[in-house]
Amino acid sequence: MLTLDTIRQAPKALLHDHLDGGLRPATVIDLAREYGYDRLPTTDVDDLAAWFRRGADRKSLELYLETFEHTVGVLQERDAIIRVAAECAEDLAADGVAYAEVRMAPELMTERGLTLDEAQAAILEGFRIGSTNATAAGKPIVMRSIVTAMRQAARSVEVAECAVRWRDAGVVGFDVAGPEKGYPPTRYQDAFDLIRRENFHITIHAGESFGLPSIWEALQFAGAERLGHGVRIVDDITVRPDGSIELGRLAAFVRDRRVPLEMCPSSNVHTGAAASIAEHPIELLRRLRFRVTVNTDNRLMSGVSMTSEFAALDEAFRIGLGEMEWMTINAMKSAFAPFDERLRLINEVVKPGYAHLRMAESRVATTA
Ligand SMILES: [Zn+2]
Repeated sequence: MLTLDTIRQAPKALLHDHLDGGLRPATVIDLAREYGYDRLPTTDVDDLAAWFRRGADRKSLELYLETFEHTVGVLQERDAIIRVAAECAEDLAADGVAYAEVRMAPELMTERGLTLDEAQAAILEGFRIGSTNATAAGKPIVMRSIVTAMRQAARSVEVAECAVRWRDAGVVGFDVAGPEKGYPPTRYQDAFDLIRRENFHITIHAGESFGLPSIWEALQFAGAERLGHGVRIVDDITVRPDGSIELGRLAAFVRDRRVPLEMCPSSNVHTGAAASIAEHPIELLRRLRFRVTVNTDNRLMSGVSMTSEFAALDEAFRIGLGEMEWMTINAMKSAFAPFDERLRLINEVVKPGYAHLRMAESRVATTA
């Protein structure tokens, strides 16, 4: 089995991580004190971390999302957003993430008067500071931003326009998130049309808590290039008792077109989208060579990191360095950063990083 140290050292790429789902518990407490937010359930760091985890692990996407009230509650000031975004970059870099696309809904940060653009500018400033600090610490990371529109709100066009305005400053795409049931992707068609007219990028939370129709609409109407989660695509795959497998039309399309699946194993267990890591559809999809990527979703609420997610997969399925590298290259190929930047990261960071670790592993094996 891979050691945690090896997994941490291995270069990783992250496509699906929420800024408001990855705060340090101590920072939540600091910011609450600083900005007079008095609704936290506790001001003890360990208790608060445990509270978030308990609140998230209730087998329902709707209940899972309730915990965001407090992280969003302390993200209403420019300096708070900058601090959280900078710490996000530093934490990911320390975990061995070489490339990250971190998403946030700027519309959630406007309660105290910030505009969408001011909120977005603060995120990008934080990413700049955090990645500069990480590089200085010998852990370079490329940080990119995805702008999310919330399903329950009716601001998706305005949010899409904001995403496009910041495209040359670090925003690489547009996303829709929030409760899935009752909010099909086509409800936001105007926003998706706008993004496509601008030749910009779309990923959509689809097939997480809701089934195939949501995935179908995301791909065939909204124009999603990637699927946030997409786990329910297994509903279109038949595994017969004799072991033979048949893909339905939609599953075949997803695999044939190499549609990236932004899979978040622990988060799916917590929202009830999968019963356990061992039973997570990621194993079947990986074996069938769908374009599987591994992601954290919400590091605070799910109590995970990229390293812990890969460790959990290695424990359940013995994926080893080979599959870890395959999923990392899948992620880099699917990233919304420009082609030349993706190629540089694959050839100069990912491949040499894994080659180096494999050499170290074989040295251990021959001396053992
Ligand atoms: Zn998500």
